[in-house]
Amino acid sequence: MIQDVAPLRFDNAFIPASPAVDDLVLDLSADGLLLLNGLPPTVEAWRKSPARQNAALLYAFRLTTEEDASPPRPASDTFRTASAVACSASEASDTARETEKGIADLPLPARETEKDAAAPGCASAPARETDAPSALLRRERPETRFFLVLRAGDSDAPTPDSWRRVAPRDLRTAPAPLPLVAATAAHLFRWYDTTRFCPRCASPLKHAEKERALACPSCGHILYPVIAPCVIVAVTHEDRLLLTRYARPGAKHLVLVAGFIEIGETAEQAAAREVMEETGLRIKNLRYQGSQPWGFSGSLVSAFSAELDGPDTIRLDTSELAEARWVRRADIPPCPALDSFTMHLIHRFARGEL
Ligand SMILES: [Zn+2]
Repeated sequence: MIQDVAPLRFDNAFIPASPAVDDLVLDLSADGLLLLNGLPPTVEAWRKSPARQNAALLYAFRLTTEEDASPPRPASDTFRTASAVACSASEASDTARETEKGIADLPLPARETEKDAAAPGCASAPARETDAPSALLRRERPETRFFLVLRAGDSDAPTPDSWRRVAPRDLRTAPAPLPLVAATAAHLFRWYDTTRFCPRCASPLKHAEKERALACPSCGHILYPVIAPCVIVAVTHEDRLLLTRYARPGAKHLVLVAGFIEIGETAEQAAAREVMEETGLRIKNLRYQGSQPWGFSGSLVSAFSAELDGPDTIRLDTSELAEARWVRRADIPPCPALDSFTMHLIHRFARGEL
């Protein structure tokens, strides 16, 4: 799954750092994440573009080796980018404007979940590239830090021929850790892009200096990054798994029951409610299977398995679903990747592990 980046370790704690020449730049636009030789460019390479020399960069996260638990490197004054910490969010998000189309295009969790099971099943997934993290490990240093572009300086800055932009979700099955890097970059970027003014008094927000937050200088209101919690449920009954397909146009693939957690309810309650709402089925023996960050849509997925409790007759919620049906273990076809928890659970069921 996208969060599996071992032997690297993902560290998302915020530090008020300035970038060094060998840190990597997360440059998002409507056309996707900027890549150079398959990776986000170094600050040094990225700065060579005249239009990017003075753009603000904000610390995003880092990847370290499993053994390395040392604190992040101290701030560097190599570039002017420390100003990103103190500048107005509304001023710093010029780049965001050019990405409105791209960000708006990011699908909702349920839709992503559907895509997850895009291959109509997961009986046998191909092996992932074994040297997946090596691209970053070859950098031969204990940590790789990533900085988010908050201001391009010139939205029409040309992209060199050797560079390319890739939609974050199109990197879902790229070698690790690129999927997690892309998803987290997309999540962070969208939050900064859509959070520029105080929701209480409409004043321009400023970046907090010591934490990942935006603060209103007028009324003191503080905003923290928004994560949308949702659930997916693998409902089983004897040798069958409950799979659904969304009713909206373009939804072709079978997925698990999924939905957002409502205010005031537990994840377990949300799981039971979503199954009842979408299929009219009751569940029992709900078991937590794990969670997954899904930054492509700004979500955190909590995954459950459950058993049918009562009659197996499906009452379809046609406002959401085109179909819901029980699929026998032997009838679940292979899937191409196991990047999501949806695929992971379907795959496990097909293997008799669920
Ligand atoms: Zn305010």
